[in-house]
Order: sequence, then C-alpha cells, then structure tokens
Amino acid sequence: MQIKNKIKALREELREHNYNYYILDNPTITDYEFDMKLEELQKLEVEHPEFYDATSPTLRVGGAITKNFETVAHEYRMYSLDNSYNREDLQDWEKRIQRILGDVQVVYTCELKYDGASISLTYEEGKLVRAITRGDGFQGDNVTANVKTIKSVPLQLKGDYPPKFDIRGEIILTLEGFAKMNQERIANGEEPYMNPRNTASGSLKLQDSTLVAQRPLDCLLYSIVGPNLNLETQFDMLEKARSWGFKVPKVAALCRSTDEVLRFVEHWDGNRHDLPYETDGVVVKVNSLRHQDELGHTAKAPRWAMAYKFKAEQAATVLNEITYQVGRTGAITPVANLQPVLLAGTTVKRASLHNADQIAKLDIRERDTVFVEKGGEIIPKIIAVDFTKRPLDSRPTKYITHCPECQTELIRKEGEAQHFCPNDTGCPPQITGRIQHFISRKAMDIEGLGGETVELLFKEGLVANYADLYALTKEQITPLERMAEKSAENLINGVEASKEIPFERVLFALGIRYVGETVAKKLAKAYRSIDALIAASVDELVAVDEIGERIAESVVQFFSNTENLTIVDRLKSYGLQFSLSEEQLQGQSEILKGKSFVVSGVFETLERNALKKLIEDNGGKVSSSISSKTTFLVAGDKMGPSKRTKAENLGVPIISEQEFLAMV
Ligand code: AMP
Ligand code: ZN
Repeated sequence: MQIKNKIKALREELREHNYNYYILDNPTITDYEFDMKLEELQKLEVEHPEFYDATSPTLRVGGAITKNFETVAHEYRMYSLDNSYNREDLQDWEKRIQRILGDVQVVYTCELKYDGASISLTYEEGKLVRAITRGDGFQGDNVTANVKTIKSVPLQLKGDYPPKFDIRGEIILTLEGFAKMNQERIANGEEPYMNPRNTASGSLKLQDSTLVAQRPLDCLLYSIVGPNLNLETQFDMLEKARSWGFKVPKVAALCRSTDEVLRFVEHWDGNRHDLPYETDGVVVKVNSLRHQDELGHTAKAPRWAMAYKFKAEQAATVLNEITYQVGRTGAITPVANLQPVLLAGTTVKRASLHNADQIAKLDIRERDTVFVEKGGEIIPKIIAVDFTKRPLDSRPTKYITHCPECQTELIRKEGEAQHFCPNDTGCPPQITGRIQHFISRKAMDIEGLGGETVELLFKEGLVANYADLYALTKEQITPLERMAEKSAENLINGVEASKEIPFERVLFALGIRYVGETVAKKLAKAYRSIDALIAASVDELVAVDEIGERIAESVVQFFSNTENLTIVDRLKSYGLQFSLSEEQLQGQSEILKGKSFVVSGVFETLERNALKKLIEDNGGKVSSSISSKTTFLVAGDKMGPSKRTKAENLGVPIISEQEFLAMV
C-alpha cells in the first residue's frame, strides 16, 4: 500500500510539474529536480510492475515502434474551413449567417489559425486513449504512441471533464524549437528542414516514438466534440479545455461585429511575428453553440466558421549575385545576394537557394527580379522570378563545377541534392569549420577560443587541424593581432581544461559526418573506447541499436583515413578522454558480452527502451532484425508472428521478459 501511494503521489506531482512547465510556461522546480523525481518513479515502476498505468509521466520518453499506422474512422467528422481574404468575403459570410439565424445578435470568437498538423484526441474517463490525424476528414491514422510523447498533451485530465469526448487541435513546432533542430542538423552535417509545419506533420509519422519524444513538439487545442458536453459557447469551450489541463492559447477574443473581427485580424497580421509559433490566419467562429447547431455544415466545412488568411509577406527585389558557401562537411550551398529589401519587419539581403536543382527549377539568374517570401522559414526564400523583368541578354545560371575556396572539382553523390568539395583536408572553410565544431559548446567547449580566433590561427599557420590546438604555446599566440598576454593565457587554459571532457563528447567533437550528439553517446556506450570503435566493421556497427548503414559507413570511412588516425593518436598523446570513465562504467556489467538480442512486442515490467538499455548496460547488443547471429529473441505481448517464425526457422531461442530479467 505504502509503495502504491508513493507511486501515485509521484505521478501526480510530476503531472503537475509537467503542466506548470509545458502549459503554463512557469516551472516551479529545476530540470534537475524534475529528472530526479522522474528517475525515482521510473525505478519504482520497474520494481512494481503491478502498478502500471498507461498515463504515467514516465511514458513520455517513448519506446513504442509503429510499423504501419492503423487507419481509424473519426467518430465525428473533421471538417475543413472556408477561406476569406478581405472585408467583403467576411460581410458576405455574415449575411449568409443572418439569413439562417434571423434577426439575432451574432457574437464571434476569433482565434488564431495555427499552422501545423491537425489532430483529434479522444479522452475517456479523463485518460487519453487515442490520437488520430485528420486524414481525409472521415478517417485518419492512429498516431497515439507518438502523440503520447508530446509533453503538452495531457495523458490524464483534471477538473470536471465529461466522461467521453474528442478534442481537436494542431500539432506544431515552435519557431525556437525548429531553429534548434536545424542547428543540430547542420552541426551533424545534415540538410536542415524546410519549415516547421511539414516537420511537425512528418514527426507524427515517425516509426520510432523515442525520436518523436526528442522533438520539441507542442499541441494547441481549439475545439471539443462529443455528447452531453454541457457547454454554451465557443469561448467557454476554450476556457473549459484550458481548465482540464489542455494548452489553449489565450489570444482568443470575443467580437461583436465584422469591424471588431477585422481589427483582431489586423492586429495579429501585424504582430504575428512576435508569436512563438507560426500562424497563417485567423479563424472566426460563431460563438453560441446553439447557433452553430442551427447553422450546421456544408459538404466540406462548418457554416459557422470562417478562416481569414493572412497575406503571405512578399517583396520583389533584384538578385545581384549568386555566391557559393562551403560548409564544414564540404557541402556547397548557393546563396542569393539581393538588393536589400524590407520584409516582415526586417531587411533581407540574402536568401538560400538550397541546391542546384532549386536553381534549375526556378530558372533563376543573376540580375533577375525575384519575389522573396518570409514564411515560417527563418531564412527568407525566393519563390519565383518575375520573367517580365528579365534583362534581354540574360543567360541561364551555370552551377559551379569547382570549389570557390580551393578550386577542387566538386562531386555530387547519387541521390544527394547537394554538391560537395571532396578536398576535406585542404579546403580552408572545411578545416576551420571542423576546428570550430570541435571547440563548440556541446563538443569540447573550449573557453577563451572563438570562431574568429580559429580563423586567425589557421591564417597564421599555427593550426591546420584540431590536434594542433594542443601544441599551441603562449609565446606563439601573444604576438598575434588582437591577442594580449591574458587572452593567450585563457586560450591555453581552456585547451588544457578540455582534456577532461568525457569520451562521448570527444567523439562528437571529431566531426564525423552523421555522428551527432545522440549518435556519439550511443557509440561511446556501445564501444566504450575509441580503439574498439576504430576496429568495428560496418556490419558490427549497424548491429548497434539505432545505428544505420549511413552512419556506420561514415564512421568506418572516417577511421580508414590515415590522416584522421594520426590526429586521433596525437589527441590521445595529449591526454584527451578516449574511453568511458570508471564512473560511467558503473551500473554496467559484461554479463551479456558477445550476446545479441532482438526485442519485440509489448512488455509488462519495462518499457521497451528500458529493456534495451539494460541489455546495453550489461554488455549485450540490441539489434532490430533477427539473423543467425541473434542469441536471443526477447518476446513480449503482441509480437508479430513473422518474427516468431523467423526465430524458429533460424533456431534462435525465444525467451520471455521474466527469463531475460533473470539473466541480468
Ligand atoms: P484548411 O486546412 O485550410 O482546410 O483549414 C482547416 C484547418 O485549420 C483545420 O483542419 C485545423 O487543423 C486548422 N486550424 C488551425 N487553427 C485552428 C483554429 N483555431 N480553429 C479551427 N481550425 C484551426
Ligand atoms: Zn574546397
């Protein structure tokens, strides 16, 4: 009983903190304290599987894999919205409404139109039971496992909620979250995502919910449907939803006339860039639910609601020149240098042209007049060329064939959009880019050394790779431009201090393509030392959980380069951490060494991820598919029959969760 209450209390407390953090944006404890409590709950839940609860805050980290998203019919159809673009459209709509309702005062609720992916959540007895995408409005995909990882979606409601209802909303990525994701992708040598909306809807369809859990998704709600709701107006509905624990933006307002509606629209059209998320308009709804009932729906949309679309902010300007940037990984990005133009409150001088295909698609040329648009993208984009203004002597753009920095011939790999400069050890921006990545905060975090200093050191011939940083002396640095004794000292001390940075960050710092922070952690844990990692083959690497072929090949390629090996050897000789420390190895054992596991199905005691972690912590390997090399198949509930047949055919022993736990 004691334990049961403890678990219950912890769940309630963590739910409250989640609510404070994700809905109210007002945390009352530190992240660290939160993590400690979550860990405590996790531990108790593992020890006491009899108290399992599908709404426990520990389930936010994901773990479920969905191979095929099941199609589910919506109990209440998800309608689309009619669009309006100006005052006349709105007034016409008002007339149509008045004709049906007669001579009554109509009040409107104005809400923002959030630009993301629509979702319908079903709650029963206050618990989230299903999340379905809009699909065609009649049926959508069951994405419950993924939506459960979104922290602002309550798994358990509070207050006076009805026993059963659906609630509709929009899954979005905040602009800040989106920018952060892209920074990480760029740091990992991956192409950035184009815009928050597509990325949010793409996230819902990821097969691995753990990956969804890592994305900064958010869910904004706007409509409740169901029997006996006991609500009178749209505005009440929003307040009620808020009181049950949903995230409902507070910008909604009641308006008593078309003029008031237009004032709301104007205000947000002008201020929408201050919002933390993207919007593409305002949704105007008849406030009284009785009126809504009376108005009903057309085949496509409710008669009681109308979207008013914001004008996409566009400007025309002249493209002066196309230049090409070389990134740390050698990727070439064409950049449009524009005649400066004012757009959405900022002066725009440059826009990304992405790659050669994009240039060809737009048929964009220097001296063209182009239309620039600022949508959700942080960097404005060029949407079209004004062909009527094209100079007569204009010639099609020839994409560069050689690196603008080192004149090496560019390559373009099959299936890749971007051109690359292959001269990774001799191309200046690649060299300095790698060093800048190495010293960055999430990597070696070298204090006293910044990006510009790296360029200076490179120009002066003092460093040509990141190992050279450790051979720098104060005497070499002090005479440099803008360097004083004190700053030279700081630099040397910063470099010295970085020798304590743990292995997984050193691994990330090396700048192996596709080895980002998370992958570096996985590899460090699986191999424990750089020597073991260097010795690993592609086949062995892909056997590590979540390491795919692309990453595996990149790792093997990196370490097959003798220059890289020499640099690693030098870093070793300077005393950097190239294996996990004693501390990190604690709680780990080697009992499962040499054994390879496939984990499949749903488990009672442990979440799938916890099970995998247990295997890895004890030296075992987790693999996603069964082969003759698999030692055991750990089978949970609802395991697919094909897995079982395959295991039986290959003679792979099938063990239960309990049998596995007994092993460790
Ligand atoms: P459309 O996709 O243009 O047909 O617009 C309809 C979509 O707008 C709905 O499916 C919702 O996902 C979305 N939407 C965003 N914000 C709201 C809101 N406040 N009220 C209603 N629908 C909204
Ligand atoms: Zn180059």
